[in-house]
Amino acid sequence: MVGWRAVSHAHTPACPICETESEPAFWAGGYRMYRCRGCGASFVHPVPSDAALQELYASFHLSDDEGGQYEEMENRMIADFPAKVAMVKRGMAGNAGFTDSRKIRLLDVGCGKGYFVKACRDAGIEAEGVDLSSSGVAFAREKLGVPARQGALADLKDDLGEFDVVTFWATIEHLADPVGMLRDIAEVLKPGGRLLLDTGVGDDWLDRLLPGRVQWFDPPQHLFVFSVEGMRRALAAAGFADVHIDSSYDRSALRRGMRLARNGAAAMMLRFGSTVSRLRSGTYEFRRYPIGNLMSVSAHKAARRVSAEPARVEKAAARSPLEVVVRGGMGVPAVR
Ligand SMILES: [Zn+2]
Repeated sequence: MVGWRAVSHAHTPACPICETESEPAFWAGGYRMYRCRGCGASFVHPVPSDAALQELYASFHLSDDEGGQYEEMENRMIADFPAKVAMVKRGMAGNAGFTDSRKIRLLDVGCGKGYFVKACRDAGIEAEGVDLSSSGVAFAREKLGVPARQGALADLKDDLGEFDVVTFWATIEHLADPVGMLRDIAEVLKPGGRLLLDTGVGDDWLDRLLPGRVQWFDPPQHLFVFSVEGMRRALAAAGFADVHIDSSYDRSALRRGMRLARNGAAAMMLRFGSTVSRLRSGTYEFRRYPIGNLMSVSAHKAARRVSAEPARVEKAAARSPLEVVVRGGMGVPAVR
């Protein structure tokens, strides 16, 4: 393990988002992570095999008693949903030409067991979900009684129609080809339609103090840790415009303050700990801490592609071996 940074410099992969050269960053749970020199996003390379990912996600939506690992995260996410439903409604109220008399059509991509679809429908939004997880979708339909379809968005999109809003909570970091997925999402949005997503933040003050130690560096679950700039480039490449990013999101001002205090205290303690020198050398075995910032992203589907260099990124995505993993149908859940 020692010294892989040095020897692997000759073979650093290009950033899957913006195709800029990357640099080896650290080991995380036995996986190599690289950081893009252009946009600051971190990513796993090589990507775990389809088989390894399928095995991981096969048990994901089981209860904790059955060997799942999802219930605690699920409870935390459900607590966020009222604030997110309000965000959807606020966003639509600002859209020109939208009136309350017309129902918002919303698609929740990576809907998991359908709790957010249910929260939206309870609030009068015409919501449905898609997810690769058959156990998640079965729960949504049978236990919650909400519309949900199993499969990859790429395969389902032609039958879904067009939506005012797509939500994509805590899922993009699980995908091997995030730009490809954002393009698929753009295809099911009406022109001017809105995408709302959230994901962990990398390359911010906390990640710089504690490189690789915040909770988002969690492969093989998380294959990307987006930076704000990486998110902007990914959205531009997929044809989104009018991008707003809140890089320290929480559902209330109080919780935002608590998160900041917790992150700051943990960062100070850990930063000056004895592990720092090993950590900076990139040769430590991975241990993460339950700290990290969350980015909340809002973007509109542009009427026309407005990306500065769409052709270049398109080429990168098409060449990427990552495409295969997403299209191959691993059970990507909506978790963080
Ligand atoms: Zn990049």
